Amino acid sequence: MGLDDILRRIRNAEAAAGRPAGSVTLIAVSKLQPAAQVEAVLDHGQRVFGENYVQEAQGKWPDWAARWPGVSLHLIGPLQSNKARAAVQLFDAIHSVDRLSLASRLARAAQELGLAPRIFVQVNTGAEPQKAGVAPDEADALIDACRDLGLDLQGCMCIPPDDTDPRPHFSLLRQIAGRNGLSGLSMGMSGDFEAAIAEGATHVRIGSAIFGARPPRA
Ligand SMILES: *Cc1c(COP(=O)(O)O)cnc(C)c1O
Repeated sequence: MGLDDILRRIRNAEAAAGRPAGSVTLIAVSKLQPAAQVEAVLDHGQRVFGENYVQEAQGKWPDWAARWPGVSLHLIGPLQSNKARAAVQLFDAIHSVDRLSLASRLARAAQELGLAPRIFVQVNTGAEPQKAGVAPDEADALIDACRDLGLDLQGCMCIPPDDTDPRPHFSLLRQIAGRNGLSGLSMGMSGDFEAAIAEGATHVRIGSAIFGARPPRA
């Protein structure tokens, strides 16, 4: 069980950054993990989880949420517009909003369903062609559009490029969120969450450091 160790490291990183204890929310990323591992972490008291795939999450979370009350589910993977409605039904927060067409679909579904998922705009801070996220210089316009659509906008999310110092990316995300009056910063994964907390992360998304290496996607 890596959960206790991760919670301790988060508390230490908060203290080192002079931030209040509990200011960082741990999202335990359970995608593709064996059921027994996730159930052990639920038994241990963790209630905030992240998933990448709508269909996979639909298959397992309704049952778990009924057995462990208080679960909050966050979608952290890319979202196809045709799954926007299903995502609104299942997730309390969506971290991967990166285009106006998706934001519009989410806003419509939220209104029809009477739901209000918390929204993060994903920014492609490294401008990597293969990666999801709005370009940094288009983020302000997308944030404005999300507000105009009435979405419950909380902040920004990023995944820095592999094999580079992530801190400039975390810092850029903080600047983008800050100049738009957004307080939420979803950044930091198993390998870099302490650096993200030093740069102001409010939500860290940690999978393998809690559950162990993920089995490959079938
Ligand atoms: C899978 C995933 C994570 C968790 O990654 P780990 O390295 O296992 O901590 C975090 N964020 C996103 C967007 C992911 O897809």
